[in-house]
Amino acid sequence: MTATTVPAAPAVPAPVRLDLGLYPELQRFGATDISACFSCGTCTAICPLSQSDGTFPRRIIRYAQVGMKDALLGSKELWSCYQCGECAESCPTQADPSEFMAATRRYAIASYDKTGLARTMYTRPVLATILAVALAVFFAAFMYQAHGPMNGETLAIFDWIPSELIHTTGILVMVIVVLAGLVGVGSMARAVGRREGVSWSAVLGSRAALRRSGRALWSSIGRESLGQTVFRAECDADPVAMAVPWYRRRWLVHALVVWGFLGLLAATGLDYGLALLGVKETGTPVPLWYPVRLLGTVAGASLVYGATVLIIDRYRAANRSVRSSTVADWMLLALLWVVAVTGFAIELALYLPSAPTWGYWLFLVHVATALELVLLAPFMKLAHAVYRPVALFFVALARTEA
Ligand code: SF4
Ligand code: SF4
Repeated sequence: MTATTVPAAPAVPAPVRLDLGLYPELQRFGATDISACFSCGTCTAICPLSQSDGTFPRRIIRYAQVGMKDALLGSKELWSCYQCGECAESCPTQADPSEFMAATRRYAIASYDKTGLARTMYTRPVLATILAVALAVFFAAFMYQAHGPMNGETLAIFDWIPSELIHTTGILVMVIVVLAGLVGVGSMARAVGRREGVSWSAVLGSRAALRRSGRALWSSIGRESLGQTVFRAECDADPVAMAVPWYRRRWLVHALVVWGFLGLLAATGLDYGLALLGVKETGTPVPLWYPVRLLGTVAGASLVYGATVLIIDRYRAANRSVRSSTVADWMLLALLWVVAVTGFAIELALYLPSAPTWGYWLFLVHVATALELVLLAPFMKLAHAVYRPVALFFVALARTEA
């Protein structure tokens, strides 16, 4: 009997799963009516990001129309869009691809989150508002039950609410946030990596892979997320955006919010670190030029300005990107603004000759809303601060491989 060689069966592509409930589901997250989109490509022609991809953004719309949920959630391009709104103006069917992309990102955040909280925050605005208020009240009551004496001569805020309690609660909140963030990012990275055919070994498996990943990391975090390079370049190339005074341009205002938020987080962490090292107890009076205090003041001013302009622009629907708003948009802006303004007002109150009672209450509001803002970060729009760099990492990786 002779052995016969059976030719290898041709590889069968994995079947594409279609989810016919995808589009109605996206509509719950605020997706515009894309049923009339006939893939004409006008949005692609106008989008500043589509030079190297002749199917963006209409491909994302197509995924939604036919129910390709896995493709949608594994799409790195979804996060490249910075909602400039140019495509919305040119669409002949008023499908508003810009707003559709924003709604799809909300849906993606809710899908990567396994707790269901993000879904509630986006699809049940009344319950989300009640939850947000209840959480702030809970944090305020929790801090207040441990309060000490209210010094009437100097604003001794950490004698009133012990710094140890704030630090311990802050650490607990950070642990929850990091765990929720890791689950979400893991879920997203798996979906995008599978779709892009990027394995762990392609990212970390050799020196060349590590070098490539390092470059992609620098491009996504350093150049694009912190430096706002693409955002800035496209803003400066858009005549409508250029007509806005430089101090109101979207990229600058967005950058001020990002830098302000990160600066405040860094100042809080450094202050805690100095207390741990025994260099400076939390609450010890220091001059304005003391580095950690200076960082906190500059970051606070940056966040106050950025959040205020964002609120005014959204209220006035001042540009194409903020023509429609959700409760979640307002909630995030409100939290950012309250944290920034109360923090800044406490800084000023510390210079006043006597200790104003309102300074203590403002401090309580500040601590409660800051804890709430950080705790809700993975379940709100703020989560894009992590998902976007991950997606841009894959974009940069694909560019270096090409
Ligand atoms: S969203 Fe509008 S512009 Fe874009 S392909 Fe569809 S119909 Fe054309
Ligand atoms: S909003 Fe701007 S970046 Fe996003 S798809 Fe439309 S044109 Fe492109």
